Amino acid sequence: MKTLPGADIVIIGGGWTGLLMAKDLGKRTSLKIVVLERGGMRRTEDYASDMDELDYFIRLRMMQNTSRETVTLRHNPGERALPIRQLACFLPGEGIGGAGEHWTAQCPRYQPDCLQLYSKTVERYGEKRLPENHSFQDWGVTYDDLEPYYTRAEQLLSVSGKVGNLRGQKIEGGNIFSGWYSAEYPNPPLKTPYFPALFGEATKSLGYHPYHDPAAMNSVPSTNPDGVSRAACLYCGFCTRYGCMVGAKAQPTNTLLPLVEQISRVTIRTHATVRRIVHDKTGYDKAGNDKAASGAKARGVTYLDANGEEFFQPADLVILGSWTMNNNRLLMLSGIGEPYDPATGKGTLGRNLTHQVIFPGAVGFFEKSLNRFMGGGAVGTRISDFDGDVFEHSNLPFLRGGTFAASAYGAQPISGFGRVPPSVKARWGAEWKKAAVASYDRSDAINFSGEHVPYKTNFYDLDPTYKDYAGDPLLRLTIDWNDNERKTAEFMTAKAVEIARAMGAKEINPFPSYDHYDVRRYQSTHVQGGTIMAATPDRGVVNPYLQHWQMPNLFVLGGSTFPNQGAANPTPTILAFTYRTADAIVDRHLKKLGMLA
Ligand SMILES: Cc1cc2nc3c(=O)[nH]c(=O)nc-3n(C[C@H](O)[C@H](O)[C@H](O)COP(=O)(O)OP(=O)(O)OC[C@H]3O[C@@H](n4cnc5c(N)ncnc54)[C@H](O)[C@@H]3O)c2cc1C
Repeated sequence: MKTLPGADIVIIGGGWTGLLMAKDLGKRTSLKIVVLERGGMRRTEDYASDMDELDYFIRLRMMQNTSRETVTLRHNPGERALPIRQLACFLPGEGIGGAGEHWTAQCPRYQPDCLQLYSKTVERYGEKRLPENHSFQDWGVTYDDLEPYYTRAEQLLSVSGKVGNLRGQKIEGGNIFSGWYSAEYPNPPLKTPYFPALFGEATKSLGYHPYHDPAAMNSVPSTNPDGVSRAACLYCGFCTRYGCMVGAKAQPTNTLLPLVEQISRVTIRTHATVRRIVHDKTGYDKAGNDKAASGAKARGVTYLDANGEEFFQPADLVILGSWTMNNNRLLMLSGIGEPYDPATGKGTLGRNLTHQVIFPGAVGFFEKSLNRFMGGGAVGTRISDFDGDVFEHSNLPFLRGGTFAASAYGAQPISGFGRVPPSVKARWGAEWKKAAVASYDRSDAINFSGEHVPYKTNFYDLDPTYKDYAGDPLLRLTIDWNDNERKTAEFMTAKAVEIARAMGAKEINPFPSYDHYDVRRYQSTHVQGGTIMAATPDRGVVNPYLQHWQMPNLFVLGGSTFPNQGAANPTPTILAFTYRTADAIVDRHLKKLGMLA
């Protein structure tokens, strides 16, 4: 193995978190930084000429290559896990930009009490209401701590929308159930196409409070505080699962990469797959004393290049930003931290696997055309009247909740085709085809996005059987739905049907119900946990500054650090925490090495 010249900082992963950290630390310090990304380079120009639904949407051109590396999955420890050979329920990215290139760009914040799930739930409903086998805990950070960083993330992304709670003042047309915001979104809301408009009128007539989905997509051309200018959205419909051809959707390649590339001390190395974080069991104690007899210190990483040659990249500080599953796997493969054992409850690494609860609550079939071919990922109208603990749960058989949205993603000929109303009994042949053609532009879903609370029984570990292309064990997911999710789905499906009726749907297909966790249906790529944050080392892998509890010169970024999954999509929260960690590194850690208190 070849040893390379040392760096001050090595960052694993070139997606949202990795490039944001490279930009921030690169601008604010004079340190030498190396970013290692397993995939290739990407740029906005790459998307300009070849938008092809078959290639991108169906064959998942931008996603992780499962023939080289995948994960295995089982519902409980009694089953043998099997490898996911074809991605479906989540779509991890690969290449510069990561999943942030092909994301949908919906940009809500978490409900404030998500960050204090245990204490707020017990305060309101008592310990007895917590679900069986729950693993609720607080994050060690409050919404008020995070608020300034949320604002910075929204400015970075030039979010379009209307705030509904500006420093405590409730504003009609925004989300009045959100936590407080210190600033309005940088851009006005996107346009409202016909289907989201119908949803807005119907939910208002039912007494709910519709608002524009906040979007990391430009409603107007704009420039962010870093001086990065991006064009306005064309509503072309090629958005989720694609990179934006005009740069209207905020992606790491159009908001961060141009800035990172201007910093000569930052090197981005593509096709560099990190295999291990190299560390010493002694040498760096909690007070930051080097060469101490106890403590642990990261020394750098090993990685394989495109030819399979292995390198050692020494570094003084290691930052892991390789998305939830890879963060877990790399710590496990590197032997850093104590793996979680569900039988004894001991160990923290791998705990609290959660996956946002998303389903089409009701598909409505309408008389008029909906113009579904136009739109963009985050173009839509949403209500939060059933989010989190916004509504009373005392007499309900479940805790927490979520939001409903009517979105105009841009329905395409292959992926947007194939719905038929319940009155059509044929499942194939001429009758089915006729109904599917008629329904293509006259049907759409009212989607529900909900919280996933943590359980002791949902966790990550290394698979004892299956290995990747390089011979390393795959990550194993043990996950299933529990009664809380099933009862939530029943309740929320009834609400979605009520809304579809109020929208004038002639026929409605309700969501059938949750059975077991299903890998065949796209759920969302909002899979969290495993390297969770906690105020004390017995409850988490990292502290609330995302610093590894056992290794002061190792930081872990991203959704893997979330103890539970809110109903909202996670990236604004992920970026807010990344900014907070960058501040902690620059302002405190680099001045006095050791654990951040
Ligand atoms: C289809 C889709 C829609 C989404 N929509 C939304 C949305 O609307 N709103 C929202 O908030 N979020 C959304 N997300 C989620 C969002 O993309 C992620 O939260 C975000 O990208 C996470 O940032 P990250 O840096 O943790 O991971 P990523 O952006 O995925 O970056 C991780 C990078 O690490 C690299 N990597 C992994 N392993 C290694 C290794 N061993 N060595 C070197 N490099 C490695 C990967 O190749 C990748 O480039 C969506 C995701 C998908 C896939």
